[in-house]
Amino acid sequence: MKDMISDHLIAEQPWYRPTGNELSLFEAAYAARMPVMLKGPTGCGKTRFVEHMAWKLGRPLVTVACNEDMTASDLVGRFLLDADGTHWQDGPLTLAARHGAICYLDEVVEARQDTTVVIHPLTDNRRVLPLEKKGELLKAHPDFFLVISYNPGYQSLMKDLKQSTKQRFGALDFDWPEEEIETEIIAHESGVDPETAKKLVEIGTRARNLKGHGLDEGISTRMLIHAGKLIAQGVEPVPACTMALVRPITDDPDMRDALDAAVATYF
Ligand code: ADP
Repeated sequence: MKDMISDHLIAEQPWYRPTGNELSLFEAAYAARMPVMLKGPTGCGKTRFVEHMAWKLGRPLVTVACNEDMTASDLVGRFLLDADGTHWQDGPLTLAARHGAICYLDEVVEARQDTTVVIHPLTDNRRVLPLEKKGELLKAHPDFFLVISYNPGYQSLMKDLKQSTKQRFGALDFDWPEEEIETEIIAHESGVDPETAKKLVEIGTRARNLKGHGLDEGISTRMLIHAGKLIAQGVEPVPACTMALVRPITDDPDMRDALDAAVATYF
């Protein structure tokens, strides 16, 4: 099926609660066409932010969830065979570059480095994308913009971006929002009252302090919203928190006890 660029326009404003000066910095980076890297743990608002910015700037948004099996052709495109013969199909990166969309490569470290390098000629002054198989040198649309997300927690020697890739981007750090702001986000997104949202955030803060002491990742804003949604559905807070916050994040019995105890302190 043909991927239409108009399908990628965001009609309604995605609600985003700013946590600092990220909106104005992103807008300035967009105006300068300086590619942007959003750095931060999973579930802290990076995707929502880029959706909001795409809406605000009136650009379509093409999102790609990166993985290690992804090839350069998955990004750039390939010839497909159908009843009428072969035809070229643009990959998501090409689609965005051709039509002036924002291309968001989510969790870009997951992709192999030989895949990631295809973005290089698009992210310097050349702003071109060679479609080698097609024999086309695509000049990016003036409005084309590249955004990648990167979770520094997953960084390892095996999986990291090349310096030559990193240095093409300006970076914005994302982290868990301040308690007051996160409370507002949880209440807005899940429908619980502010008092319950505050308790969820306090449980989140406690759990985040266990990171590195048995927990690999802290409880994310996304997980707190899940707990809030269960509570808003009428589930009692303790089983809601057990299901949404404790069980997904660890299998270690001691860590589960510690998190259960944190939940019990508030509910
Ligand atoms: P990431 O892309 O960092 O993994 P998301 O953007 O998907 O995380 O965030 C998870 C959820 O948390 C979002 O769907 C949204 O409901 C909520 N969220 C987090 N931060 C914010 C924020 N600043 N404003 C509005 N919603 C937010």
